[in-house]
Amino acid sequence: MQFDVHAHLDLYKDRDEIINKAEQSKIYVISMTNLPELYEKYVREYPSLSHVRFALGLHPELVKDHAKQLPLFLSLLPKARYIGEIGLDYSKQKSDVDKRIQQQVFEQIIDHCKRCSDPKILSIHSRNAANEIIDIIGRYNGQVVFHWLSDKNVKLTEAVENGYYFSINRQMASYQSGQNLIRKMPLHRLLIESDAPFTKGNSPSYSVEQFVDTAKQMSVIFGFSLDEMIKILSDNFRRLLKNERLD
Ligand SMILES: [Zn+2]
Repeated sequence: MQFDVHAHLDLYKDRDEIINKAEQSKIYVISMTNLPELYEKYVREYPSLSHVRFALGLHPELVKDHAKQLPLFLSLLPKARYIGEIGLDYSKQKSDVDKRIQQQVFEQIIDHCKRCSDPKILSIHSRNAANEIIDIIGRYNGQVVFHWLSDKNVKLTEAVENGYYFSINRQMASYQSGQNLIRKMPLHRLLIESDAPFTKGNSPSYSVEQFVDTAKQMSVIFGFSLDEMIKILSDNFRRLLKNERLD
């Protein structure tokens, strides 16, 4: 089974074609949105997809200018199963005001997720803010996926104890510090993402080969055969969807 738990298919010009390609290739793609108004639009435009799913998002880097969309986000939340891209971005150039607004919005989103009766699958952006994210989410009875985790000082043990997953992309698996972090993550919590079109090395169009390419890189990091690695990753993805956890 091939999958991609974090992509931005809507950001491609030839969106329809790419969605068709993913559907025909039977690749399960969780496609992020960056604003709730976009999620609302795509769910309406593509009502009957079998492999591609849109996630309800409010991207942390857009929060400062689009905080007005929070009520729309919260109104769409009860019916949405996949949530992302959400999170915090505390890159150096972000102002204190920006960070404060991001934090307030993120806390409200998490609070509302926890109050929903069904478990959601959250895809989390955590640049320079991984530990703040862990403090805000804590334990959650749905699923939390740390997307492209890069924070070396992350309290990884706590994230693992909380049951979080980690989605790995091609770029992250290609540099030394990324590989060092991946090696510390438990095998049963690893997933694959493309973060397309943002990762380097992605072709101008969405690459359906990225799953196998990334699984290959991971098999080298962990010393497994490609088949063994794909089996581990597919089992993880199934557990994620069933809202099960291996401790
Ligand atoms: Zn993303």
